[in-house]
Parts: sequence; C-alpha cells; structure tokens
Amino acid sequence: MRILLYRGDGVIEPWAHDFAARLPHAELVVWREGMSLAAQPPCDYAVLWAPTRSLLDQLTQVKAIFLMGAGADAILKFGDALPHVPIVRLGDAGMAEQMAEYVAYATLRYFRRFDEYEQQARQGIWNPLPERRKADFTVGVLGLGKLGMPVLHALRQLGFPVRGWSRSPRDLPGVECYAGMESLDDFLAGSQVLVCMLPLTPETTNLLDRARLSQLPAGAYLINVARGAQVADPDLLALIRSGHIAGATLDVFRNEPLPAPHPFWSEPRITITPHISALTLREEAVQQIAAKIERLERDEAIDDVIDRVRGY
Ligand code: NDP
Repeated sequence: MRILLYRGDGVIEPWAHDFAARLPHAELVVWREGMSLAAQPPCDYAVLWAPTRSLLDQLTQVKAIFLMGAGADAILKFGDALPHVPIVRLGDAGMAEQMAEYVAYATLRYFRRFDEYEQQARQGIWNPLPERRKADFTVGVLGLGKLGMPVLHALRQLGFPVRGWSRSPRDLPGVECYAGMESLDDFLAGSQVLVCMLPLTPETTNLLDRARLSQLPAGAYLINVARGAQVADPDLLALIRSGHIAGATLDVFRNEPLPAPHPFWSEPRITITPHISALTLREEAVQQIAAKIERLERDEAIDDVIDRVRGY
C-alpha cells in the first residue's frame, strides 16, 4: 500500500515518521511542489493539508483523500478539479476539548469582565464593576457538529443558558435549538455571546454581516473559532466602534496571518489569537487516519466523509 503525504506548510517529516511507525507495511511518498508522480506506481491514499491544484491533478488513482484537519474548505474550493473519491476530515481527534477550553475561557473572560479589568489595570484603576447574572448571559453556538456540541456542553456545565443553531432540526435537553436560515434572526436576538463554529461553505461565507450582527442584543460579544470569511470585517469593526458589540475574540481571519495594517490589530476590544483554538494533534490524527485506512482496506465503512453537496 502506498500513501502520499503532503502539507502546504512543509512540516511533513514528523507525520511521515509517525505514519511509518503506525503503518509499518505502507510505503510512504512525501510529495513536494514540482514533483511528478507519473513515473511512480500509483498511490492508494493521500493524506493532505492545504493541497495545491498541481498535486490534486496527479491524484488520479487514490481510493480516498484524508485531511489533517476538521475543515474541508481549503480542498473543496477546487470543486470539479477534485478526484471523485471520498474526502475524509478529522473527527474531533483531540480538537473538541481544545475548542471547549478556548470558548469557555473567552466566555468567562467576558462574563466576569476580565477584559474590562485588564484595561483598567493598565491605567492603574481600582474599580469593581457591577456583577452579571448568568441568566442574562445566554451563549448562542452556531454549528452543532463534532466540535460545536462539546463546546455547548462545556458552556452548559459552567451554568450558562445555551442555544444552538444548525441546518437540520435538533432536540437537545437543556438547549434551545434553532434550525435553518429562517430562524437565524430569532437565534441571534437572544445570544449575549455568539460563538461561530460553522464550516465555511457558500451559505456561511459573510454570514455574519452588519444586518445579522445587528440582531445581537446591545453589548453582545462575538467569539469566532471557525473561519474568518464568515464575518464581514468592516461590519464587525463598525458595530464594535458604535458600542453595539462590546468585544470580539477572533482566532480565524480572511487572510492568515492577519496582515499588519489590518484595523483589528489596533482595536482594543478585539482579542486576536493566531488560529490556535484547536490545533491538530499529530498523534491522535495519525491514529485516526491509519485506523480508517485499515477499515477501508477491509471494505468497512468509515465516518467523517465530507458531503460535497452540503460542503462539509
Ligand atoms: P461539523 O461538520 O461536524 O458540523 C458543522 C455544523 O454546522 C453542523 O451542526 C451543521 O448543521 C452546521 N451547519 C453547516 N452549515 C450550516 C448552515 N448553512 N446553516 C446552519 N447550520 C449549518 O463541523 P465541526 O464541528 O467539526 O467543525 C466546525 C468548523 O470549525 C470546521 O468546519 C472548521 O472550519 C472549524 N475549525 C477551526 C479550527 C481552529 O483552530 N480555529 C480547528 C478545527 C475546525 P447540521 O448538524 O444540520 O449538519
């Protein structure tokens, strides 16, 4: 069995090392830009992150493509140029716990007003602010998938009222569930904290624009850990400057790294992290992908296959 490995960031050797240990009988092919596979025997599987068109064009005989991450937008953008084989994302693989930590931390920071105390402390101000009630601090989670659900549970355990929005209707104990575009405005109107955990698809691109973000209650907060292109940057900035949105914690951006002149950098009510809310844990990822390859070799079904029509 031949497995092709590629990462757009070039950091592939540790992956090759771990796959060699986990699948000792597999022949690993580390692909680099400019390399031709024409003279080589075909690969059975490809394990990729941020592939290029020139690589995808050469994957004519693979049985499946595995992604080293949970989001499929970076590969689905190639549309019809993609080989007609299953594309398989990582399912959790240690990311859900990280997401839950990140979102719980950001939510508590706003709820307990640590963002304001940080500002005050920088100015040498000792000033206890009025406390808040959790009952008034509903957290709305957009996207109830492999990562969205554990985030919702973590927030519930902390005692926050929670609501969730998905494409298909859900019935979850203790969660106000909303489904579909027609319910989005009602969902937003009751979300004091809005957490975006949606995949990037044509429907979710620019979803959070001025009109939608204006539906949030005055003084609401945004936490985006999904994809930057889901938020209209100038609209978010305008609503923060007007005071309608009190603060935002952003882990993802339209262009990454976030360019130096971007106005988000200088807005004190925006907290920026460099796409770290849920890092791919190599050990877990290799175990998961290898186990799925073994299942496919035994003609068994696997989960986490991307639905190309839905876009996630
Ligand atoms: P899943 O595919 O498991 O779940 C997606 C959820 O979004 C589902 O509940 C789905 O609804 C909902 N959804 C999708 N489209 C729509 C729509 N048009 N309207 C309403 N709901 C919609 O994704 P994950 O939870 O695993 O991951 C979410 C995203 O997080 C990833 O796609 C990726 O972009 C991002 N991510 C970010 C990372 C980071 O470090 N910042 C790391 C990993 C992932 P339904 O249940 O009805 O299908």
